Amino acid sequence: MNIAATPSTALIDKYGRHIDYVRLSVTDRCDFRCVYCMSEKMTFLPRNQVLSLEEIFKVAQVFNQLGVRKIRLTGGEPLVRSNILSLVQNIGKLPNLDELLITTNGSHLEQMSADLKAAGVTRINISLDSLNAATFREMTRTGDLAQVLRGIEAAKARNFKALRLNAVILKGRNDHEILDLVHYAMQLGINIAFIEEMPLGEVTEHDRLETSCSNDEVRRVIESAHNLTPLDMKTAGPSRYYQLEGSESRVGFISPVSHNFCESCNRVRMTVEGRLLLCLGNEHSVDLRSVLREHPDDVHLLQETIRNAMDIKPLRHYFYEKDAPQVVRFMNMTGG
Ligand code: SAM
Ligand code: SF4
Repeated sequence: MNIAATPSTALIDKYGRHIDYVRLSVTDRCDFRCVYCMSEKMTFLPRNQVLSLEEIFKVAQVFNQLGVRKIRLTGGEPLVRSNILSLVQNIGKLPNLDELLITTNGSHLEQMSADLKAAGVTRINISLDSLNAATFREMTRTGDLAQVLRGIEAAKARNFKALRLNAVILKGRNDHEILDLVHYAMQLGINIAFIEEMPLGEVTEHDRLETSCSNDEVRRVIESAHNLTPLDMKTAGPSRYYQLEGSESRVGFISPVSHNFCESCNRVRMTVEGRLLLCLGNEHSVDLRSVLREHPDDVHLLQETIRNAMDIKPLRHYFYEKDAPQVVRFMNMTGG
């Protein structure tokens, strides 16, 4: 397979958006059960419905041929997938890939940071919602804060191009820790992003409308203690970044609920079942697994299927808006 991306093979949707970023979910499983992401008792996919690492790599290769320059591995928890390093190493060798990113809960970073760096991972996002062990446990249901902090420090020691903490703030849970989290990021000289909780999947543990904390509120808290200068920073994702005065660290705000950023959307996702999702907040999708399994040697068919899928990429998402479609997928299926 050696087909270079030309203007005619590049992925352009019907609204003229150029798709050069793909997020691949490599598992729906996870060692945590974060309250905003999963229900306590989850049923995970049977193995035969899950793409093999070889199938995922084939999809990564084809996206790369179609001009994708950034690939993020996510999940579920990507680092619990057995043999994940072999996939990371293979993707790390793809030509013309600018960035290989991973989003992780940090629980395996202490052991795996060095190998991930050697395999070509450029940046890591690590979820961290609390610096208090009990709150951390409550929000992740199973997580061990000390283990995650050791993982963050191990990754820091490996000098990745960038590390970023991801925090989801829920009112009444961790909203009093916004500044502590910012200070922890500043102390390590890494970035931090605040992500608004999205209504993906049905959770019964809390009422999302009650716990919802907009990023405007988060920003006001940070600005009560720090000067934030807006940055015109083009990143792989939808964050709006601000420089924290007197620090190397930047604060990002990912505000899918309060600020729709769809007009500049440059990405698509694939679930570990091989469902190509054209939008985080809609159910529009195309089944790549059947192409992979029924026509395993037909690279052109896979390319064409992906290219044609761009025609059904929706204009935007409609979280909490009137008549908004209910998205039944949990975030661990979607791949954040
Ligand atoms: N397990 C990894 C982790 O936690 O970083 C990667 C997958 S996780 C689904 C990716 C990101 O999505 C995490 O930063 C997590 O906090 C975020 N997330 C999960 N459920 C969410 C929701 N309902 N709304 C907003 N962000 C969510
Ligand atoms: Fe697991 Fe990440 Fe979801 Fe938490 S947010 S349950 S760590 S997949």
